[in-house]
Amino acid sequence: MGQQKDRGVAEVMARGKFLHMNAGNGECSYARSSTLQRMVILKAKPVLEDAIRKMFNSGEFPKCFNMADLGCSSGPNTLFTVSNVMKIVQRLCHEKSCKMPEFQAYLNDLPDNDFNTLFKSIPLFYQNLKDGANCFISGMPGSFYERLFPTKTLQLVHSSYSLHWLSQSPEKIENNNSIYITRTSPPQVFEAYKKQFEKDFSRFLQLRSEEIVTGGHMLITFIGRSIPDPHGYHCVHLDLLSESLIDLVHEGLIEQAELDSFNYPFYSPYKDELKKIVEMEGSFDLDNLEIFQVNWDERDNDDDICFDAYSSGKHVAKTMRAVLEQMLVSHFQFGESIVDYLFERYAYHLACHLLVQKGKFCNIVISLRKK
Ligand code: SAH
Repeated sequence: MGQQKDRGVAEVMARGKFLHMNAGNGECSYARSSTLQRMVILKAKPVLEDAIRKMFNSGEFPKCFNMADLGCSSGPNTLFTVSNVMKIVQRLCHEKSCKMPEFQAYLNDLPDNDFNTLFKSIPLFYQNLKDGANCFISGMPGSFYERLFPTKTLQLVHSSYSLHWLSQSPEKIENNNSIYITRTSPPQVFEAYKKQFEKDFSRFLQLRSEEIVTGGHMLITFIGRSIPDPHGYHCVHLDLLSESLIDLVHEGLIEQAELDSFNYPFYSPYKDELKKIVEMEGSFDLDNLEIFQVNWDERDNDDDICFDAYSSGKHVAKTMRAVLEQMLVSHFQFGESIVDYLFERYAYHLACHLLVQKGKFCNIVISLRKK
């Protein structure tokens, strides 16, 4: 029975079914808890602007500008990206006194993403478009680790905070009491994660290279590492989640074996790893790579001390819940009261950490040009 359940979860994991964010507009929804990700999109905007300007300078835009946002989720950030791209193009067209193209924007995410809520927000988006701007939005359900678009049809691909999700967790790793690479993990754990990321990201590049026109651009933002050493402090927020799950084991709410078999399907690359994969795959030139940090609590813009560790702990736990809840429920199969309790423990561990040390995500944004 246990084995059957494990197989079921592994299959679901392989299809990435559990990865979708919390749906709807409720208290725990991604739509209401994604201001951190919005700040990341804002901070990466100059790189986006630079890429579009380069495309514009190397030839006229086509009559219809085709763009795709991969891993768009559902919430205010989804149409924010489309709107940013349109505004940049609009400004460039104004500067050069040329006609604004029409836009076709494809919003991609896994089929279980809350496309219904997303589609309902489109009429208001159309209503708010500036006079003369024409944009046509379509949903494109599917995994970005598969082909999504016809050959050579896209000018721009954008993806923020999505490509650090793997197509599946690395197989057969023993990483007891930790859900991700940590300081106590054996070296095989890091190797297995790295290998899975290399495989996934190379495949992603190869697939997109067929869909993007020559000279087209792709902008990708990842949670990354600021140092080559994978065992450093880059993913403390996941160590703290492991600790919260261990609390649940100690209280008999989940089984040790369930914790041991959970491997977080995520990888935060170091910049040189990204450069190497892009080079090896060979379809794109790396045009730009920038690194920037954001505090775990995006409301806190102080660099040194945390303004209120308790409030920040709660806020960060809420942001993470919108992202992780479906995945955790699908693996551990616990009910709502245990989920509430788990994220209370998580808020507590986060707060204890923030009392002594600031928490930061290191972000890497790359701009790639199709050869
Ligand atoms: N870009 C949005 C959402 C980031 S959350 C923002 O910045 O706010 C990451 C999203 O990637 C989730 O919606 C998740 O469902 C999606 N995702 C993860 N793996 C995916 C895959 N293989 N194919 C398509 N979407 C995927």
